[in-house]
Amino acid sequence: MVVERERTVANTHATSNGPANGPGTQGISDAGFAARVRDAIDRQELSLVFQPQADVVTNRLTGFEALSRWRLSDGTMLPPDVFVPMAEQGEAIHLLGEWTLRTACVAATGWLRAGYPDIPVSVNLSARQLDDPGLVLKVLGILAETGLPAANLKLELTETSMFSQTAEAREALLRLRGAGIRLVLDDFGTGWSSLATLRRVPVEALKIDKQFVQAMVEDRDAAAIVQAVVALAHALELGVVAEGVETPEQRLYLQAYRCDVLQGYWLSRPLTADGVDDFLAERSAILPPIGSGGSAAGQQTSG
Ligand code: C2E
Ligand code: CA
Ligand code: CA
Repeated sequence: MVVERERTVANTHATSNGPANGPGTQGISDAGFAARVRDAIDRQELSLVFQPQADVVTNRLTGFEALSRWRLSDGTMLPPDVFVPMAEQGEAIHLLGEWTLRTACVAATGWLRAGYPDIPVSVNLSARQLDDPGLVLKVLGILAETGLPAANLKLELTETSMFSQTAEAREALLRLRGAGIRLVLDDFGTGWSSLATLRRVPVEALKIDKQFVQAMVEDRDAAAIVQAVVALAHALELGVVAEGVETPEQRLYLQAYRCDVLQGYWLSRPLTADGVDDFLAERSAILPPIGSGGSAAGQQTSG
């Protein structure tokens, strides 16, 4: 029975269809998928990996992004590109979102207790989670429960969730921001941000989508877009993060364009919780204390 359900989910993966129309998903109703996610949580099939982010110039660690992973009992990995959109079709996204938030906050509290006060965790928030009128209380409850300071939590939202929202959702974002939680606009450039609205959303940083970062060295248009997004962010007094940085050339371009923070395989692949501990231990051994003015030369971990 369980095997059958897992096969069903895996078939959906193979066909890249949503739960409503995938040939393998007949019989998985919305409630069925929510039950499947609940099961996956109970059986510890879900886990988080954490990808470091660092200052483009100094290479100082600035935080980790939490990314969900789902390993089926037969060992098959379902990518988040598949199960997150499936969960978003119904109630499952609220279960998955709450589990992700709690697990990420527990991890970040661990880093804090291990003596790293300035390492926030970034969690992806689906637009659908903003439909939940209880979201703000849930997030604040998780912070209280885990003991994580609000400033050590960042929520990454896509342009769609920032701009196509109801007044209630906008109010929720303002309340989260008012509580000290930091908001980042994810996948910037792929959605439909109105520049006028950008001034009014309470984000502290823009995250440039990896498609532009990866094309930038070869493609002048992509380079112009990256440069323009950095200029736009800075003109609005926002930070700017580049994702998907894989090569030293890409890092050099970002440095020339004055991008603040980078994330990508060049710095590190996403790490398991144990991998994070090793990464932190290695880096504190080689990096000078924050503020001592040391250069990053020779201190990079290879991707
Ligand atoms: P994202 O938020 O844009 O996350 C960045 C994706 O790029 C991650 O894929 C990451 O593993 C990948 N990546 C990082 N560095 C590099 C690089 O140098 N090169 C390349 N080619 N890729 C890189 P991942 O983990 O497969 O996640 C895919 C998407 O699924 C995420 O895109 C995010 O939108 C979503 N997602 C993942 N976990 C969650 C979650 O817990 N909740 C929600 N709502 N969405 C999630
Ligand atoms: Ca993200
Ligand atoms: Ca992206």
